[in-house]
Amino acid sequence: AFNANVAAAQGALNAFIVATPQKALEAAKTVDDARAKGEALGPMAGVPIGMKDLFATDGVQTSAASHMLEGFVPRYESTVSRKLWEAGAGMLGKLNLDQFAMGSSNESSHFGAVVSPWRRPGSNAPLTAGGSSGGSSAAIAARLAPAATGTDTGGSIRQPAAYTGTTGIKPTYGRCSRWGVVAYASSLDQAGAMARDVTDCAIMLESMAGFDPKDATSLDMPVPNWTASLSGDLRGKKVGIPREYRVEGMAPEIEAMWEQGIAWARDAGAEVVEVSLPHTQYALAAYYIIAPAEASSNLARYDGVRYGLRDLPDGAGLQDMYAATRAAGFGAEVKRRILIGTYVLSAGFYDAYYTKAQKVRTLISQDFATAFEEVDVLLTPTAPTAAFALGENQDDPVAMYLNDVFTVPASLAGLPAMSVPAGLDAQGLPLGLQIIGRPLDEQGVLNAGL
Ligand code: GLN
Repeated sequence: AFNANVAAAQGALNAFIVATPQKALEAAKTVDDARAKGEALGPMAGVPIGMKDLFATDGVQTSAASHMLEGFVPRYESTVSRKLWEAGAGMLGKLNLDQFAMGSSNESSHFGAVVSPWRRPGSNAPLTAGGSSGGSSAAIAARLAPAATGTDTGGSIRQPAAYTGTTGIKPTYGRCSRWGVVAYASSLDQAGAMARDVTDCAIMLESMAGFDPKDATSLDMPVPNWTASLSGDLRGKKVGIPREYRVEGMAPEIEAMWEQGIAWARDAGAEVVEVSLPHTQYALAAYYIIAPAEASSNLARYDGVRYGLRDLPDGAGLQDMYAATRAAGFGAEVKRRILIGTYVLSAGFYDAYYTKAQKVRTLISQDFATAFEEVDVLLTPTAPTAAFALGENQDDPVAMYLNDVFTVPASLAGLPAMSVPAGLDAQGLPLGLQIIGRPLDEQGVLNAGL
């Protein structure tokens, strides 16, 4: 049924880059076989999932939604996807995303934007499903997949979840291996789970997380049984409301949704207190220095020699090949990031931008550490608006970057954070609430989200 839905919706939503119906069927079949033999089933047995096309999948194109990696078929499997297959899941296909995971609307994909299944009442204008994990969020919202992987560098799991009425969790940095995930900004990139609700996210994340010696920043910690300890009872817990997230000009309906979230937390028994994260206003600027800096370094590997595209004009030398390959292989947003990144890392500007941004990052982490001495979790809106129309922010990169204002601080601090559906706005579009937790306290985040 899911395979049929994937095929039927492709023209309207463009959520998938490649469909792999056979793989989903194979996983279903192993369940039948295991049952027949009386063997135990894995926690994801037979569950068909979408795989963001940033995870290397052995024998299946892994494009990062770029022309550069179009047609690239790895001969290895990312650790996260391997763990999911070992838990019994099957792959419906590779999901569309922003090119190299850079973007907030999916419009930077070489394969065209993902279209959200949601519409404003009385309008057929296509809306964004968010980005960069927009294929994942659209597929779940449209019931093409019960769950999907996402990656989150500055909000790419949480913002698409908020825009589509789905649920997504980015665990603590280091919980999920980055091995085999196409790198964007390595000190921020983290894989996570996207699904229809908190319980499904918990089940899936348990199968994805865990120590991996192949990732130097992987945490050597046991993965707790989050599912077994899920509880929506928040008695004795303190929920913090960061004052600085009440940004000027906040849409009244976002404000109202936040108030609703506070009321829900109180109903669940929590004590709600205001806290301060004084350096919040610098987070976006620091992020848009650090992430492009790391990206410019990570993307240096696409040189026409080792992976994907090679553009070798007649009579060209090595430098010409690099230039031609990179000119043709990267889209405009990726080039913008590489230019910003190389600029802020250049000898004359390194201290003014990159070093400064790293200092700001430390201050932001310290703000969170101070707040978490007092409260167990933080509650904020996930994004400053509901989903916008495709095309609306495309000519204005800064307006696009502003979408990430509430999600990047937790990324800079490496904290677990989740977006949960929080009702609809006046136009009937979904909104999301963000829960941010202490390092390694995915349980606290999941329980508050429940
Ligand atoms: N929108 C942010 C960016 O473009 C976040 C992307 C992400 O988390 N991958 O960098």
